Amino acid sequence: MIDETSATEELSAAEFLRYSRQLMLPELGEEGQLQLKRARVLVVGAGGLGSAALLSLAAAGVGQIHIADPDAVELSNLQRQLAFESGDVGINKAKAAAARLTRLNPHIQVQVLPLALRGELLAEQVASVDLVLDCSDNLSTRYQVNQSCAEGQKPLVSGAATGWQGQLMTFDFRRSDAACYQCLFPFDANLSPDDAMPIGSCRTLGIMGPMVNTLGTLQALQAIKLILGLDADSGMSYLRRFNGLTMEWQTLAVARDADCPVCGYQGSSSPQNRGSSQRRSEYVDTGK
Ligand SMILES: [Zn+2]
Repeated sequence: MIDETSATEELSAAEFLRYSRQLMLPELGEEGQLQLKRARVLVVGAGGLGSAALLSLAAAGVGQIHIADPDAVELSNLQRQLAFESGDVGINKAKAAAARLTRLNPHIQVQVLPLALRGELLAEQVASVDLVLDCSDNLSTRYQVNQSCAEGQKPLVSGAATGWQGQLMTFDFRRSDAACYQCLFPFDANLSPDDAMPIGSCRTLGIMGPMVNTLGTLQALQAIKLILGLDADSGMSYLRRFNGLTMEWQTLAVARDADCPVCGYQGSSSPQNRGSSQRRSEYVDTGK
């Protein structure tokens, strides 16, 4: 029972049925579902994290999803990148993921960006959405996405996983005092972003599939909460670390670095005066 409605001011009968199990949640309801339908989300990277995040966002009814990835699906991706099937090998990941999402939920719109988002194109994409998920696999992209989101004041949900370890970070740049990715992981000014090493490459360090699936799914959960205004972090920036072997979580509050070149108000290239925090970057174990 599928209809062709794309109206964002109402839900069709088919959509009421499709989303019925989440519509009954008091935090969501019809208005919440319409908020999801109106939402525009950019997912940078359609690998392991991106696959899981994209499937969850599409299934939940996020209305406009932009997928950016320059790479093609490889056979060795299929152990963990759940959006793809054996027949997708050789196809661009953004295109293959878009086809999968459209089959999953015909009520949503998907934009394919089969390239590495950089510079003005990245800034344009960030400006065109409400929220960004960083599901990329290299530091160069992470620093650039962080900077674009800070400048565009768009919330950023960042995930990472290697081996049995995972990280989840949310930076709500709608707030003037939000810490950023570069506060947490300061960039070495002696290196150009393109020299930055890949984050714990899956090629060299290995990865347990459910680790990226878990972290990607949690990125989608954080995104949905931000769209619905249910952010339990109240705009604070946290680094959450998950150990898949011990099943233990560690939550660390991230303070803004006043000297951060991206968000610190003392930074020489700061795009804007972002408040009065003078704290140095530091981790504070919240004991959560
Ligand atoms: Zn910063």
